[in-house]
Amino acid sequence: MNKVWDVIIVGGGPAGLSAGLYTSRAKLSTLLIEKGIFGGQIANAERVENYPGFPDGISGFELGQLMHQQAKKYGLETVAAQVIGIELAERGKVVKTTDGKYLAKAVILAGGAEPNRLGVPGEEKLLGKGVSYCATCDGPLFKDREVAVVGGGDSAVEEGILLTRFASKVILIHRRNQLRASRLLQERAFANKKFVFLWDTVVEEILGDNKVSGLRVRNVKTEQGKNLEVSAVFIYVGLRPGTDYLSGLLSLDGEGHITTNEVMETGIAGIFAAGDIRKNSSRQVITAAGDGATAALSAEKFLIE
Ligand code: NAP
Repeated sequence: MNKVWDVIIVGGGPAGLSAGLYTSRAKLSTLLIEKGIFGGQIANAERVENYPGFPDGISGFELGQLMHQQAKKYGLETVAAQVIGIELAERGKVVKTTDGKYLAKAVILAGGAEPNRLGVPGEEKLLGKGVSYCATCDGPLFKDREVAVVGGGDSAVEEGILLTRFASKVILIHRRNQLRASRLLQERAFANKKFVFLWDTVVEEILGDNKVSGLRVRNVKTEQGKNLEVSAVFIYVGLRPGTDYLSGLLSLDGEGHITTNEVMETGIAGIFAAGDIRKNSSRQVITAAGDGATAALSAEKFLIE
């Protein structure tokens, strides 16, 4: 831990990679720590259609790789590890990871968010055996089968539409009778003949021994329960930030998001947060990238001062 980095960025999604592009171009020595693949949540997105500059859309995986390539060109260094703690020391901020400790003058937290669990019996047991949080990854396994999607937001509808390419039928189960997803996605889903909607319904249990065989569902208005036969269930019931390791250090809201001001400063001088990890994020690729750039400019100002 002899080297003192100007900036350490935690997370290699659009926020972290944009921050890395800006700090590296500003000639600040920058280390980005990412535990998985570059791109964050979009790495699993079949197509990103609302990031400017790509009129035909671009695969999320490719966009993540391109963002990394661009930042690397200006000197961004990366390490594959999981961050497990941050400590304040005299020489700077100590970032503790599964790969050892790193020291920096400034830290940008851009660890994003992970899919929420539904929290019903069978979910943990059948994970990877028909329970999935990634249609792009697991959808092709269920060719010509009937599958369910849980949730009514952009993710559920977008991924449900993707699943219709493989599955014979996609049953979208939503706890209300109105989708939260954008109008454009709703129109696409309603026009898709393979899509079936089960409104005002919640999943009570995921059934199956070694693989998913069905779901126990309940209509919240009539209180009537029934079993649905499906081979898989794709869960999209929102996201939670990965900030457990920061409690006690930073101010977090009830859901674990980091509180920042408009220039991405947290309550601790020299620690910044960007993207889905922060409170009031718009949770879009473009706003995450914007947050990352703002956090980088704030970090640069902090280092100069
Ligand atoms: P989200 O917008 O928070 O939607 C979560 C959905 O799950 C809601 O419909 C919610 O129901 C439902 N839900 C939450 N908890 C539940 C529970 N315990 N049981 C059953 N249903 C539950 O999450 P998201 O769809 O993952 O999207 C996250 C963010 O990413 C959003 O800001 C979204 O706009 C963005 N995103 C954008 C795109 C795009 O631009 N193409 C694609 C994907 C995601 P209620 O509606 O009743 O609350």
